[in-house]
Amino acid sequence: MIREHYDLVKKNTAGKAALCIVSKHRSTDEILSYYEAGERIFAENRADELVAKAEALPKDIEWHFIGHLQRNKVRRILPVTAMIQSLDSIELADVIEKEAACINKVMPVLAEFHLAGEDTNKSGLPADQADTLFEHCLALPHVRIEGIMVMGPHTDNEKRITEVFEEARKLFLSLQEKYGKEIRILSMGMSSDYETALRCGSGMVRIGTYLFQE
Ligand SMILES: *Cc1c(COP(=O)(O)O)cnc(C)c1O
Repeated sequence: MIREHYDLVKKNTAGKAALCIVSKHRSTDEILSYYEAGERIFAENRADELVAKAEALPKDIEWHFIGHLQRNKVRRILPVTAMIQSLDSIELADVIEKEAACINKVMPVLAEFHLAGEDTNKSGLPADQADTLFEHCLALPHVRIEGIMVMGPHTDNEKRITEVFEEARKLFLSLQEKYGKEIRILSMGMSSDYETALRCGSGMVRIGTYLFQE
């Protein structure tokens, strides 16, 4: 662990946002150093890596999935995953519903939206598909949609990042108003932009590099 970076992140997020530590490509020992400090939410973007780490590490870790999820990988990750943050299609929601029903689990998910325009990787749905996806998910008994995840634009233009995160916050609040307080998580902000995300009302930051690399 990088104590100084960790302390700063804890101070900045205190009372504001949950910390989801992005542990992709990191060893079990590196993860354990944060576990021992009290952290329980870790995120992976590959199904095989998530499953292997979940098997090797303490069972009270909440594993979040944050990458593009292929439908044929859903069955593998469901038993060990606490939340899928990257729900990006109705088809994927239907596969999650079917597989979760098989193991009698209700799967928490966040819908991933792409609000950053052309200047970033294009994962996530456009905002105008939010209602269709939310209404679909709310009718699925084994899928529990709890909010949204958004990536900031790939730029260091602070103003542009702020615009995208403010748009995300608006989308989140409008969904919460329509569908109720069960819509409770706004996941935005990574190593490079989490402070901006916090200023824009993020409720969960996903931080990897800054916590593991000098
Ligand atoms: C890798 C990743 C992160 C963390 O990025 P860092 O820059 O390492 O903090 C956050 N969210 C998603 C979806 C990621 O893929």
